Amino acid sequence: MARILAGRTEEQPLIDPHGRAITYLRVSVTDRCDFRCVYCMAEDMTFLPKTEVLTLEELDRLCSAFVARGVRKLRLTGGEPLVRRNIMSLIEGLSRHLDSGALDELTLTTNGSQLAKYADQLYAAGVRRLNVSLDTLDESRFAAITRWGRLPQVMEGLAAARRAGLAIKINTVALRGVNDAEFDALVRWCGDQGFDLTFIEVMPMGEMGEGVRLDQYMPLSMVRAQLNKSWTLEDTDYDTGGPARYARCRETGGRIGFITPLTHNFCESCNRVRLTCTGTLYMCLGQEDAADLRTPLRADPTDALLMDAVDEAIGRKPKGHDFVIDRRRNGPAVGRHMSVTGG
Ligand code: SAM
Ligand code: SF4
Repeated sequence: MARILAGRTEEQPLIDPHGRAITYLRVSVTDRCDFRCVYCMAEDMTFLPKTEVLTLEELDRLCSAFVARGVRKLRLTGGEPLVRRNIMSLIEGLSRHLDSGALDELTLTTNGSQLAKYADQLYAAGVRRLNVSLDTLDESRFAAITRWGRLPQVMEGLAAARRAGLAIKINTVALRGVNDAEFDALVRWCGDQGFDLTFIEVMPMGEMGEGVRLDQYMPLSMVRAQLNKSWTLEDTDYDTGGPARYARCRETGGRIGFITPLTHNFCESCNRVRLTCTGTLYMCLGQEDAADLRTPLRADPTDALLMDAVDEAIGRKPKGHDFVIDRRRNGPAVGRHMSVTGG
């Protein structure tokens, strides 16, 4: 029987004002990272003081509250989720929702640097798929893009993940003049490894310095046109519940996805919200509006205030975003960095 909490049943699903059920929660578990990717962070990032960051127990409580309200998919991200101390205790704890059947999927987006250490433990905790971000197969280019990252470490991590039985999707940010000569090589390599591959458009987030994003921005229609010269891409209706559109590459058999937040409006089917490591809930990646869930979480051990705050926040979920990249508005549409909400 449903437990009555603050005048509503725990199981009451989260439906936003536009009729969309919220079934997918992305959680940034830390703002810290062992890389400093040029499009994501400044090299001298200042990170949050520890007191502002939710404890692992608080993160579990928040995630579990959303699961109780109908979230079926949890993605942990960051910053780099696997650099958070004791992260496995959170993941192992959350796996109880997989065991109970409340959750369909527990997954992560990671830069891969710590996978050699964690791949087996992740699999044991019920994680079956990972998104691993990798923009290049060239060691020096990798170092230039990530500043602090080293490609061999990520390659070892990917090998460990594969051995552990984890399905891998590579996320590649398309950057004009940086990795655009490598797309064919990435398609071939992912095909050989049995990885799916998704291309992402660089998004206007955070202050990165004069014109960086405008110069590097590459619409995925261009990426696809380039791939069409070498590969036969057949559209599929494969749907992971995310914004990517997928094609099947006939030659490699691999799936290739395209996430086009700037050129393709995917808001109608948006089923997700994003939580930061401070307990701030963003109802839309492309809007500033947010709700503080940390205060009600800390004020009330019964979760009643938290549930009220969640309802109120979902009631404000906007219909869509308004990212714009153009020469007249040469600045970020959203001031926060991607590492705050984790993409
Ligand atoms: N550290 C993990 C990683 O790199 O996979 C998780 C967090 S990272 C912020 C999540 C994703 O956001 C990565 O795939 C990264 O490439 C992407 N990303 C970061 N900044 C971006 C930007 N300005 N535009 C588009 N994608 C971005
Ligand atoms: Fe770190 Fe991921 Fe941002 Fe790169 S994209 S700096 S790996 S959080």
